[in-house]
Amino acid sequence: MLINRPRGTNDILPGDVEKWQFVEETAREVCRRFNVKEIRTPIFEHTELFQRGVGDTTDIVQKEMYTFEDRGERSLTLRPEGTAAVTRAYTENKLYAQPAPQKLFYIGPMFRYERPQSGRYRQFHQFGVEVLGVNDPAVDAEVIALAMTFLHEIGLQDLSLEINSVGSPDSRTHYRDILREHLTPVKEQLCKDCQTRFDKNPMRILDCKVDTCKGLTQDAPYMLDHLVEADAEHFKALCEYLDSFGVEYKVNPRMVRGLDYYTQTAFEIIESGSTIGGGGRYNGLVEQVGGPESPGIGFAFGVERCLIALNTQQVTPDIPTGLDVFLVSLGEAAQKATSALLQEFRISGLVADKDYLGKSMKAQMKAADRQQARRVVILGDDELAQGVANVKDMATGEQSTVGIDELTSHLLSTLE
Ligand code: AMP
Repeated sequence: MLINRPRGTNDILPGDVEKWQFVEETAREVCRRFNVKEIRTPIFEHTELFQRGVGDTTDIVQKEMYTFEDRGERSLTLRPEGTAAVTRAYTENKLYAQPAPQKLFYIGPMFRYERPQSGRYRQFHQFGVEVLGVNDPAVDAEVIALAMTFLHEIGLQDLSLEINSVGSPDSRTHYRDILREHLTPVKEQLCKDCQTRFDKNPMRILDCKVDTCKGLTQDAPYMLDHLVEADAEHFKALCEYLDSFGVEYKVNPRMVRGLDYYTQTAFEIIESGSTIGGGGRYNGLVEQVGGPESPGIGFAFGVERCLIALNTQQVTPDIPTGLDVFLVSLGEAAQKATSALLQEFRISGLVADKDYLGKSMKAQMKAADRQQARRVVILGDDELAQGVANVKDMATGEQSTVGIDELTSHLLSTLE
């Protein structure tokens, strides 16, 4: 019986993978310009890292982690997100001792046990950026600008950037009381999860997907109106920097991100009602995973969501496909000779291929066409004996006879 891929996972096949490569290459290129360096961390980590780093009350930790015991009876978890792991690596490798800020990015798979649907998978991919060691609103603005530059350069338009401040712990302590006070009269009407959240982390209630809870929190006071002075100033400065960059945004005082570690700046980027990505500042996180006090800010985009948005906006990235050369052979000696020629072409930098199934000349020409070859080199036994081959320019139909020894240099000089 056929074994299928696990639910919520995808095979990314040729034809699609080029778009993935385009998105990933654009991410790398934009990071290069912003002087952000790549970091690669393990796919699995100690479960405790996410419990502490992502937060015990989050959906991710409570419901969505792929946790398993290895043969040494350690509890490990497939990473559900990137930030906790990056802060762990930052601490463990003492990157905090190097000049600040440390600007890092990652691209790779993440794992969450969620109900699969369009745009929601159990293995998905994120492009993320984390800037550690500086608590300057200019850095928040730059990180947001990097995110927007990336999205524009992959070709997306009309995106909605929403920003908010979720406050520092000082603001939150104060705001939690205000929120509890506001919700006390309706506490019993909240969903079961939210009743637990009421004591543990009432801000989570604002993020609840249940309609009754949404209704009950509609008139709740805004965090943004209850920030301590330093947080309010940070937010104001962030807005000024974004204005000066010409980055358009909307303040959404209702936004709370799904993760516990955010402090002050929080932002999301939305396309046609779906969140492509988001992030924010997390000034306490490094300490929480056992490191020294280090501020940080970052974001993560879902690569799949970026690709869905490209589809929705009917953007077709300009991806070079097709071969430089397809080798067509006639006769046994010529067929043999093509292998060494192919190797020579490839070493010289040409994208080259040939037929291996002994097909007819017509079928080989068809294959060349299908693979969008720009040139076809036709080699028969007679030509081989004379040391020549025919080169056909597939765009113009022009044919010329070229000495086999000069083929590579001829192709290189006429193809560019
Ligand atoms: P988060 O780490 O939850 O803030 O998610 C950041 C981004 O990752 C989201 O905006 C989505 O684009 C993407 N994402 C999160 N969870 C999933 C999932 N299960 N499937 C696909 N993309 C996801």
